[in-house]
Amino acid sequence: MTEANENYVDGEWVPSETGETAAVYDPANPSEVVGEYQQSSAADAADAVAAAAAAKDEWADTPGPERGAILREAGKILDDRKEELTDLLVAEEGKARPEAAGEVQRAIDIFYYFATKASDLGGTVKASSGRNTNLYTREKPVGVAALITPWNYPIAIPAWKLAPALAAGNAVVIKPASIAPGVVVEIAKALGEAGLPDGVFNVVTGPGSEVGSEFIESDGTDAVSFTGSSHVGEMVYDQATDAGKRVQTEMGGKNPTLIAASADPAEAAEIVATGGFGTTGQSCTACSRALVHEDVYDAFVDALVAEAESIDVGPGDDHEMGPQVSADELESTLEYIDIAQSEGATLAAGGGTPDGDAVADGHFVEPTVFTDVDHDMRIAQEEVFGPVVAVVKVSDFEEGLELANDVDYGLSASIVTDDHTEANRFVDEVESGVVKVNEKTTGLELHVPFGGVKRSSSETWREQGDEGLEFYTIEQTVYDN
Ligand code: NAP
Repeated sequence: MTEANENYVDGEWVPSETGETAAVYDPANPSEVVGEYQQSSAADAADAVAAAAAAKDEWADTPGPERGAILREAGKILDDRKEELTDLLVAEEGKARPEAAGEVQRAIDIFYYFATKASDLGGTVKASSGRNTNLYTREKPVGVAALITPWNYPIAIPAWKLAPALAAGNAVVIKPASIAPGVVVEIAKALGEAGLPDGVFNVVTGPGSEVGSEFIESDGTDAVSFTGSSHVGEMVYDQATDAGKRVQTEMGGKNPTLIAASADPAEAAEIVATGGFGTTGQSCTACSRALVHEDVYDAFVDALVAEAESIDVGPGDDHEMGPQVSADELESTLEYIDIAQSEGATLAAGGGTPDGDAVADGHFVEPTVFTDVDHDMRIAQEEVFGPVVAVVKVSDFEEGLELANDVDYGLSASIVTDDHTEANRFVDEVESGVVKVNEKTTGLELHVPFGGVKRSSSETWREQGDEGLEFYTIEQTVYDN
């Protein structure tokens, strides 16, 4: 049995008071244990919050450039270890190697980006309102930030929360997803080695309902940043608001790509396939609806089916598309495939688990395409979180735009068109936090804000870019006469 990883609290590696650990399995080969992690309790979470609360003032008083230097050093340490981090990500989450390497690189880049931002923080001097008056603003940290993160980008999402939180002078407690906690444990090692003072960053693994809940309820935390499903996120939002916390929730999506009459069907199919089947469809921004003009519908469907059938599915190490992260996620996708068929959609590609020795044991599913989809079917309305694209025929741009907005979510949307006016109208009228023209719905730049509308996001705050710092900052205005 592998030695269990411990929690990181107050600069020490400590076991949970429960004495229990939980195994994390390789989704490509579920008999393989990747690591053991503490199955922590609310009491463990409370210890971490107490450590963060005790450390927060000194960290807040540390000059921004010094905070930045520690983040930069941690980034360098992660950079030096990127091969082993990529190995871990492939093993615990099943990502295809190039996708895993890209995600690790993104996390490193985020550390460097916010290391630089830490030096810029402080405030601005405004014109004085009269003689002998200094009028200025100061940017102060919020205090202790509680971070709760999902498994689908288990290193990039924690990085895009914790790096701005630390840059802005907050202490942090984090609960990574139970399915893939290993890469956050590696971040804790890097931050400790980089010289982050004890207690400023704390990791507690264990169930969301225990550890996450205590982080939200505790008097010692000041802000809660959550990414995960809409169902859990909405509960977290209510709980945190009731507890008087600043709260940010980034949640699910049902992201459309509208394919206009002027689109090249093959190019559009490639855009939908990379957006829909990349990371095994397990992206919050994954394209799961293709809304296709009737003039190009048949050619688009043929091209999308060919794209789906050409994808090489297997263990992430040397295949294009890895497994789903768990047996539960696979079962949920297969259930949606059954529901779509029972509601009358036509299965045009995939729809089952692939054959072959390499995929005999893992949680693999074929890239799947449904055609003849009515937009009120569940396959067109609900987040599947697997590699399944529902294709809906539309008679004109107006209908496509209307259907694009006819869901509860609004995270990412794209249009494929040669018509500039259509593109501009889509950007203007689509209900979505991110909009793309002639691009896939997935893929984000780290220096611009990210977030959704409707059930995809609590909307008040954005992540990444300069805006990503605002959630972790209180702006104070000083009139000094
Ligand atoms: P999830 O089940 O909602 O879990 C997210 C996190 O919340 C996990 O750490 C989980 O802990 C924790 N949690 C569960 N119940 C909790 C509770 N009662 N109180 C506090 N925390 C609790 O989501 P997931 O399955 O990990 O991730 C997939 C979802 O995330 C998809 O819906 C996807 O669209 C969304 N997502 C959104 C974005 C975005 O930026 N909008 C980005 C990525 C993913 P356990 O792991 O212990 O259950």
